[in-house]
Amino acid sequence: KLSKRLQMIAERVPAGSKLADIGSDHALLPTYLAQQGVIVFAVAGEVNPGPFEAATRQVLECGLSQKISVRSGDGLAVIEPGEVNVITIAGMGGSLMASILEAGKGKLEGVTHLILQPNVGEDHVRRWLLAEGWKLDAEAILEEDGKIYEILTATAGTTGDKSSQEALYAERVLPGGVTVTKERLLQMGPYLVEEAPEVWFAKWESELKKLAMIEGQLKLSTAEASTAKAAQIAQEMKEIKEVI
Ligand code: SAM
Repeated sequence: KLSKRLQMIAERVPAGSKLADIGSDHALLPTYLAQQGVIVFAVAGEVNPGPFEAATRQVLECGLSQKISVRSGDGLAVIEPGEVNVITIAGMGGSLMASILEAGKGKLEGVTHLILQPNVGEDHVRRWLLAEGWKLDAEAILEEDGKIYEILTATAGTTGDKSSQEALYAERVLPGGVTVTKERLLQMGPYLVEEAPEVWFAKWESELKKLAMIEGQLKLSTAEASTAKAAQIAQEMKEIKEVI
C-alpha cells in the first residue's frame, strides 16, 4: 500500500501515461501505477546506487521489467527526448528539483505534465515553472506522519499561457482587503492562498515559528548584514501573518 503522499501523486498521473519518475528510490510509484494499469511505460531514474538497486529489485520482483525501465543517472539524463510525456519528481528539495528541470530542459520536448512534490522550497519550483512557460494547474497540500507536503501539477504552456501565468502571480487583494505580493504568491502558492486549506494554515503557523527563531538569532548579532537580514525576515513574517 502506498503512503497517502504517494497515493495523492499517483492520482494526478493521467491514464495512458508514459512516465519518468526521477529520484524513484524503491520505484514504488511507477510499480503501483503499472499494477493499476494507469501507465503504459515508465522510466525509474535514480542517481544513487543503493536506491537504484532497490528499484531494480522491486521491479523484478513485481514482474514489471517489460513496463518499467530502471536507469541509473542524474536527473533527466536517464530519459531520451520524446520518450515520456509525464514526469514525476517527489520527495526532494524544491531547489534541487528546479536545478534538475533546468539541467534537463532539452529532455522536456513532448512532456505534457509535470507532477512535483518538493519537501521544502516550493517557491523555487514555482519560479522555475513560471520562467519556463509552464502552466501551474493545481496545488494540493497534505499532512502525513506529522509532515506537511505540497504537490504542484503543471502542464506544458502554449503561447497564451505566459500572460495567464503572469496574472496568476500578479499582486492581488484578498477578500479581507489584504494585499498579497508576487513574492508571497510564489512562496505560499497562488491557489493555496485562495483555497486556504486547514493544513496550509498549519504549515504557515509552523513556518512563522521557524522564522521567528531565525530572526531571534540574527538579532543577537550587531553585524550590519545580520540586522538587515533580521529586518527582511520581520517584513516577511508580517506579510505571511496578514495572508493567513
Ligand atoms: N520519489 C520517492 C518518494 O517520493 O517517495 C523517493 C524520494 S527519496 C527521499 C529522494 C530520492 O531522490 C533518493 O532516492 C535520491 O537518491 C534521489 N535523487 C536525489 N538527487 C537525484 C538526482 N539528481 N537524480 C536522480 N535521483 C536523485
